[in-house]
Amino acid sequence: MNPSSPPAGGSAELDRLHAQIRACTRCGLHATRTQAVPGTGPVDAEIMIVGEAPGFTEDVQGQPFVGPAGKLLDTLLQQIGLSRAQVFITNVLKCRPPQNRDPMPTEAETCLPYLRQQFALVRPKAVLILGRHALERMLPGVGTISRVHGQIFMRSGVAFIPCYHPAAALHNGSLVADLQKDFDRVREYLDQLLNKPDGPAGESEAPTREPEPEQLPLI
Ligand code: URA
Repeated sequence: MNPSSPPAGGSAELDRLHAQIRACTRCGLHATRTQAVPGTGPVDAEIMIVGEAPGFTEDVQGQPFVGPAGKLLDTLLQQIGLSRAQVFITNVLKCRPPQNRDPMPTEAETCLPYLRQQFALVRPKAVLILGRHALERMLPGVGTISRVHGQIFMRSGVAFIPCYHPAAALHNGSLVADLQKDFDRVREYLDQLLNKPDGPAGESEAPTREPEPEQLPLI
């Protein structure tokens, strides 16, 4: 957990934000969803995981990553000593696109303020970006997911780590090993962080392979 940083009343604020998301009608997806899927996890989570959009099972259950990709995500987390209860999980889009089609740019733009607010309340130390759609939104211009997965991009003291999407690994088994390595990088980073008495790795000391100076639009 994240004892130094959670803002007072953050949990109630997060609950309010999630109630707002559940009632959202800002884009056309509200008409086809069963329910919105704001996200789950403690407000003081050190790790935030951001996927693309809810799928069929998520739309039915109202929870992120509870279908087949979610099962793989649980396994990957377990393999690096983390449980779902310790991390905050959400998506760029809070509502399922019909037939799981790709998010439209206008839908992502409309929904992004919710992710920004979640990010501001949770204040994670590390953010796992799952898949190319989330990467395009959160670290635009850094490169394709196949090129940058497993790398650490520091932004204002927060480590952003793009990983292949678990659903991609379910379709293409050869990506599972890469995904496991990506998660190993996350574990390594957290271990470094926890061994530092002064908190998060500083920008210059962070184990980034490709430091990028520009500001993440999320912050
Ligand atoms: N894929 C995602 O990107 N998010 C989910 O919540 C489930 C599947």
